[in-house]
Amino acid sequence: MSRTPIIAGNWKMFKTVSEATAFFAEVKGKAEVAGVESVICAPFTALPALVEAAKGTTIAIGAQNVHFEDNGAYTGEVSGLMLKDLGVKYVIIGHSERRAYFAESDEIVNKKTVAAFKHGLTPIVCVGEKLEERESGATKEVCKVQTEAAFQGLSAEQAAEVVVAYEPIWAIGTGKSSTSDDAQDVIGYIRGVIAGLYDEAVAAKVRIQYGGSVKPNNVSEYLGQADIDGALVGGASLEPASYIALIEGA
Ligand code: PGA
Repeated sequence: MSRTPIIAGNWKMFKTVSEATAFFAEVKGKAEVAGVESVICAPFTALPALVEAAKGTTIAIGAQNVHFEDNGAYTGEVSGLMLKDLGVKYVIIGHSERRAYFAESDEIVNKKTVAAFKHGLTPIVCVGEKLEERESGATKEVCKVQTEAAFQGLSAEQAAEVVVAYEPIWAIGTGKSSTSDDAQDVIGYIRGVIAGLYDEAVAAKVRIQYGGSVKPNNVSEYLGQADIDGALVGGASLEPASYIALIEGA
C-alpha cells in the first residue's frame, strides 16, 4: 500500500500578491520532486496569481478556509464554489487558529469538509489537542472526537481522499515539536479511528500529516514513521529555500 507523501505550506496571514508570485518563481522546478506532492496554502488574495503561476507545474494551490454555503449573505466569506472556479485544489479546514479565534466547532468543520467535496476540493482537516489536554492524558480522546465529527456523512470514497493534519496545538509556532514517536503514536491511533468509521482499506488510503514546528532538519524523521504521510508547515514554508528543503527532505 503506498500513500504519496504530501507537504503543505500554510502561509497563514502572510504574503502580498507580489511576495507570493516572487516566492513561486523561486520554488518553481525546485519544489517539484517526483513522488512527493507539494502544496501551498495561501491567503485568498494571493490565490488567483498562484493558480496562474502554478499552471504546468506539479505544485498544487490550496486555500486556508472555506464557507460551507455556496452563496449567500455571509459578508467576508468565500465559498467552495468560488475556490473551485479559481482552480484551487486543496483547502485547510479546522486549523486550530480558526477553531480558537473564529469559533469553529466540530460541526462547522464537518459542514466545511462536506462542502469541499461538493465542489471537488480536497480538504486538509486539522485535529489536535491543547497543552492542558496533552498533560491530562486526553490527547487521543480529543483527536478521536474531532476526527469522527469531521468525517460524518462522508462516503467511503470521499473519506479515503481526506488529508488529515494532526497538529498538537502546543507545538504550533513554538519550536516545541512533538517527537516523531509521539506523533506516530497519535497518528496511528487516528488511522485506527478512521478504520472504525469505515474499514481498514479506507483507513490505509487516508494521508495523515504531522504539523507543529516542522523544519527542514526534522521533516524526514516524521516522514520515516509508518503512519505519517507528510507535514503541514507554517513558519518554515515562508522562505523559498526552506520550502524547497522541506520538499526535498520528504
Ligand atoms: P508551524 O505551524 O509550522 O509554524 O508550527 C504549523 C501550522 O500551524 O500549520
